[in-house]
Amino acid sequence: PISMNDPIEERRICVCVRKRPLNKQELHKKECDVITVPSKCVLLVHEPKLKVDLTKYLETQAFRFDFSFDETASNEVVYRFTARPLVQTIFEGGKATCFAYGQTGSGKTHVTEIVALKSARDVFLLQSQPRYRNQDLEVYVTFFEIYNGKVFDLLNKKAKLRVLEDGKQQVQVVGLQERQVSCADDVIRMIEMGSACRTSGQTFANSSSSRSHACFQIILRRRGKLHGKFSLVDLAGNERGADTSSADRQTRMEGAEINKSLLALKECIRALGQNKSHTPFRESKLTQVLRDSFIGANSRTCMIAMISPGMSSCEYTLNTLRYLSKEE
Ligand code: ADP
Ligand code: MG
Repeated sequence: PISMNDPIEERRICVCVRKRPLNKQELHKKECDVITVPSKCVLLVHEPKLKVDLTKYLETQAFRFDFSFDETASNEVVYRFTARPLVQTIFEGGKATCFAYGQTGSGKTHVTEIVALKSARDVFLLQSQPRYRNQDLEVYVTFFEIYNGKVFDLLNKKAKLRVLEDGKQQVQVVGLQERQVSCADDVIRMIEMGSACRTSGQTFANSSSSRSHACFQIILRRRGKLHGKFSLVDLAGNERGADTSSADRQTRMEGAEINKSLLALKECIRALGQNKSHTPFRESKLTQVLRDSFIGANSRTCMIAMISPGMSSCEYTLNTLRYLSKEE
């Protein structure tokens, strides 16, 4: 649990990487693990290559992050270093966002669900602390999906919603259901309800969910007025951005849309990190809807890049690492 003595994270952007363990199938296929994590901030990829004379060698590439977690890192540790520092900021009026980025099967949904549960627990813990107890803060959640540039409400039978921007650049998802919650169990029920809605009765994890971004938000209001907001985003699989050469038109369009939104996201995060005056949030529905998270003195973002350790994923792993690495 959060202690009142924990410092509020000052850094506006935190970029982390998490390597998952080899899974049963990968172990069964005797796949090599091509990733090592030699220190708390560095991650190495050892890519097998062939020389002209066909002898094999490993080409090692290094990537630097704010934190790198190997397969032994517990969910609790990952949460502590990523989302937890953001959760308290919403009690101070902050807008915080945590993204899970990576290839399908790398663990995005796994980490998103864990972060949702742990942050819900901490929000109610903080709400009951003496410092915030008498502030009349009410807790609400929303859960929606962005698929092919369109927003669907997962807490309201997947209703299609419009996104409007007013003259003051405030972005509104019209009609998005906010459900009031009063304990962590309420939040779990909402997540289950939304997940079931997301993919016709199944859980989060399946192939159609890899083509959409899912956004779960915890919102604090005081007498109806927005106080703070924490958004947790399970991004579409980044390998889907490569579907632009698919034979199927629908798949091509989805791929192009995913590409566009992930590029826009990268640019918005960069602008936030460099305190740039221009943030290209209108470039995609994803970044438009999350405008609050990129603009304003109280905005903070954490990106968790998820990677699969196997050799067969190497190409996508390198893409993921290049997308966010500090070396770029
Ligand atoms: P994604 O959402 O990126 O497609 P998932 O979160 O569905 O990937 O993860 C794929 C599988 O790997 C799931 O069965 C999940 O439980 C498992 N998994 C992911 N990360 C871990 C981890 N850190 N430790 C153990 N299993 C994991
Ligand atoms: Mg998933």
